[in-house]
Amino acid sequence: MTIGSFYPPQRTLMGPGPSDIYPQVLQALSRPTVGHLDPTFIGMMDELKQLLQYAFQTQNAFTIAVSAPGSAGMEACFVNLVEPGDKVIVCRNGVFGERMRENVVRCGGEAVMVDNAWGEPVDPQRVEEALQANPDAKLVAFVHAETSTGALSDAKAIAEVARRHECLTVVDAVTSLGGVPLLVDEWQLDAVYSGSQKCLSCVPGLSPLTFSPKAIAKIEARTTPVQSWFLDQSLVLGYWSGEGKRSYHHTAPVNSLYALHEALVLLKNEGLEQAWQRHRDAHQALKAGLESLGIEFVVEEAHRLPQLNAVYIPQGVDDAAVRATLLNRYNLEIGAGLGDLAGKAWRIGLMGYAARNENVALCLKALESTLK
Ligand SMILES: *Cc1c(COP(=O)(O)O)cnc(C)c1O
Repeated sequence: MTIGSFYPPQRTLMGPGPSDIYPQVLQALSRPTVGHLDPTFIGMMDELKQLLQYAFQTQNAFTIAVSAPGSAGMEACFVNLVEPGDKVIVCRNGVFGERMRENVVRCGGEAVMVDNAWGEPVDPQRVEEALQANPDAKLVAFVHAETSTGALSDAKAIAEVARRHECLTVVDAVTSLGGVPLLVDEWQLDAVYSGSQKCLSCVPGLSPLTFSPKAIAKIEARTTPVQSWFLDQSLVLGYWSGEGKRSYHHTAPVNSLYALHEALVLLKNEGLEQAWQRHRDAHQALKAGLESLGIEFVVEEAHRLPQLNAVYIPQGVDDAAVRATLLNRYNLEIGAGLGDLAGKAWRIGLMGYAARNENVALCLKALESTLK
């Protein structure tokens, strides 16, 4: 058997990520590779840092992209900020809160869970109660945009509660960055990670990450070494800091970083506010169409993510068969339900480049005729 080149089909990606990639971003990916210590590359990295600071709305000097997917950004936060014995309040209202708990436990920390039902946002009042009951807690960790359920939590309110109890915050912004307002400095969030392949519409495999000065101070005050060599951010810092002293840590994913640079240039040129509005507009159009098909949302209107629409599968409809038809007949991918929502819900993503009228129209047309 001979194995030739791989040519993937041209899909329209409207699931929970990866999202459709901007054509300009794919073009950037194919530009010539340069050495990762090449002066031109270092200049690009400095711009990338500024672009990430814009996307996160932060002045944090430590703002980088981890050379691995969002899960590595999550892990980078916990391995650096949790020392054995540290107590961490972990909010869980979907799949990713549970992953945060596992991270804390693997770092030797003690996870105190604050649970909300799947589809609900995190309740800041419950966080307050957990902190009153655990005055020795050091961190509060929560997911801003829960991709498994489509619920948006109030990051500003949760961070305020954490601050009153002198806790730092670890915030999963994988799906929120670029899709809904995320104001890292104004809301005083401490450790925030994201992913390249959701609302930034870049290739998968990179995790934007930012640490506040308070988070850096906690890392510097550690009495035990970070157990992960690769994710020890004090080592990575030497690589990302410019000033001509860049040293080798690992080989940067050079072309992927061109792609992220391009995706962030597109975001900056569009403007964050406009990008947020575009996601809201696409969501409204999708919502109107789905409602006319009698399809209902999992999350209450006030807490819905525009970029991730979790909807109940209509009674008597074969989940897998519908998704297979969408894929085979329309080249359209939507997401299946996860965890508690498996077999009960679909997750329709309108992330980044996918948050467009054409995509909404395609999805509605394909669903309508498939359901008939
Ligand atoms: C996708 C996602 C992740 C994980 O990101 P990967 O790039 O798949 O590792 C983490 N948290 C949330 C909320 C996500 O949606």
